[in-house]
Amino acid sequence: MGSNNDISLKALAKINLGLDVVRRREDGYHEVRMIMQTIHLYDRLDIKRTKEPGIQIQTNLSFLPVNENNLIYKAAKLLMDEFSITDGVSVKLDKRIPVAAGMAGGSTDAAAMLIGVNRLFSLGLTKRQLMERGVQIGADVPYCIMRGTALAEGIGEALSPLPPMVKCPVLIAKPSISVSTKFVYQNLKLDDTTIHPDIDHLIDDIKAKNLHDIAAHMGNVLETVTIPNYPVIDEIKKHMLSNGAVGAMMSGSGPTVFGLFDDEDTAKKAYKAMRSSHLARQVYLTSVYNNRK
Ligand code: ATP
Repeated sequence: MGSNNDISLKALAKINLGLDVVRRREDGYHEVRMIMQTIHLYDRLDIKRTKEPGIQIQTNLSFLPVNENNLIYKAAKLLMDEFSITDGVSVKLDKRIPVAAGMAGGSTDAAAMLIGVNRLFSLGLTKRQLMERGVQIGADVPYCIMRGTALAEGIGEALSPLPPMVKCPVLIAKPSISVSTKFVYQNLKLDDTTIHPDIDHLIDDIKAKNLHDIAAHMGNVLETVTIPNYPVIDEIKKHMLSNGAVGAMMSGSGPTVFGLFDDEDTAKKAYKAMRSSHLARQVYLTSVYNNRK
């Protein structure tokens, strides 16, 4: 954990077990109903309090911004401005969560930074107060502070905790294509022909802790846009299913696909098969994280 002047935190990724878009609002935002689930795939943030003012960011990924465009910077600045902090912070970000992938990577880094700055400078903010500040950075940030299994409504910021999802291995595969979130939402057709996932049914399955039913009722309405445009997403899903996944789906606006497994050995074999398939460059075997602390 470090001394009073430094702290090391894990920023955990999420998958969506369900993602529905209910309607397009007049202001251009989309009203969603999503089932969020934290997984044990994480970035690490080593945060230090410094005498020199300012926010310094270093990262292992050279293409990520290290200036005010990094969500970590925004998170630090928000609290440092509010509490008139004159010392500085430096952060070393070890990035493992696929970037621009539908896994809330930037949001979870921002969430960890809010938690870190709150502790390092003894600001005394509660989790709820940090979540209130988080939404100013991004709709997913409050959830990333809360973690676990949750229903997210509104633009994603209105959270209702759900009972923890049954623990299981999760295979993650991100193909090396980029999918723009804007493109996906702009091309989403919401009409009578749209097939929406049954989020309420999925919530019942989560409560019943039935992995096979969860897998059967998972659904992501954004796949109606991404799968026809990026067939590799469907190829990865099929690859996971034919290698024993009980369910496989795209997370968020993609292009990452996750697969749920009911036993570790099958998951390990599927992981190896995916790695040698060349369908995806970033492949991880992880698990559901449901410790809401
Ligand atoms: P979401 O699941 O919330 O849609 P995402 O997986 O699509 O998130 P991110 O990985 O959060 O997307 O990053 C999207 C963009 O944000 C990147 O292209 C990157 O330039 C920028 N960004 C800013 N800060 C970060 C950060 N700390 N980590 C990753 N990307 C960041």
